[in-house]
Amino acid sequence: MKQLVVATRNRGKIRELEAMLGDLVDEFRCAADLAGFPDTVEDGVTFEDNALKKAREASRFTGLPALADDSGLVVDALDGRPGVFSARFAGEGAGDAANNLRLLEELRDVSAGERRAAFVCVLAFVSPDGFERTFTGRVGGQILETPRGDGGFGYDPLFLVDGFDCSMAELELERKNGISHRGQAFRQFREYLEQN
Ligand code: IMP
Repeated sequence: MKQLVVATRNRGKIRELEAMLGDLVDEFRCAADLAGFPDTVEDGVTFEDNALKKAREASRFTGLPALADDSGLVVDALDGRPGVFSARFAGEGAGDAANNLRLLEELRDVSAGERRAAFVCVLAFVSPDGFERTFTGRVGGQILETPRGDGGFGYDPLFLVDGFDCSMAELELERKNGISHRGQAFRQFREYLEQN
């Protein structure tokens, strides 16, 4: 593929993508580099809604194929919350610390066996000709009662990863990418590009 627009202003995400897909894409264009790039309102009910909306707007604006992602934490005992509200669980503009406190607070009376959760990432790919495809990654775990580890970001310190005796924040980045929701979705997209 010649050019791919990535609908994010987060240069960290672009660097990760370049590392993962650099051999399959000649040039990555990023929202932050394109004047007037639309700021999509993320008002979808699902991760898929939001990822598709961002990718559609990016493709329409540039006339190029576009990729967008949306991700978050889904907690069974909270009927799937915080879900699409993960970044603003404790309120608009809330940081990771406030969001994590809110999560612990809401799960205060939930016993150890009932704290199942998953990180989910949906990647949406949209072409100017109207082609659309999504790729979903998911990793299961339990919400801890106290934070563990200082790596990663977001809810990582409270997420005990299935099959590991450690939190997501205690895994090295490479290890995290190997199992994470985002890593899984990106690898599916890579496979798709290799085959098409
Ligand atoms: P976004 O998809 O980058 O907007 O992420 C939404 C929110 O979900 C983040 O602000 C985090 O709170 C949470 N989140 C998404 N992925 C992760 C992860 O890998 N670890 C911890 N928190 C995450």
